Amino acid sequence: MSEYQDFFTARLAENSTVPTLLCGHCQSILPPSRIFENQGENRYDLPCDIIGLCSADDCGAVNCCDEATKKAEKQRAENRIAV
Ligand SMILES: [Zn+2]
Repeated sequence: MSEYQDFFTARLAENSTVPTLLCGHCQSILPPSRIFENQGENRYDLPCDIIGLCSADDCGAVNCCDEATKKAEKQRAENRIAV
């Protein structure tokens, strides 16, 4: 079990063609494979539905991705309309 003290809020990268979530701590890209629903055996005791774990070696922050994910979905929908 990895310990965590605090969590950060993921941000949505601006001006990217594909919606990309960034670590709220070090601004690294959060790999999609490290973003998951906060439930079941992966459940974190955080007030978030979607969790993103930073993969940067010197960071490893736990990110709440709720807002960023919502924005990303909106952006995706807008892109679809644009195309
Ligand atoms: Zn990070």
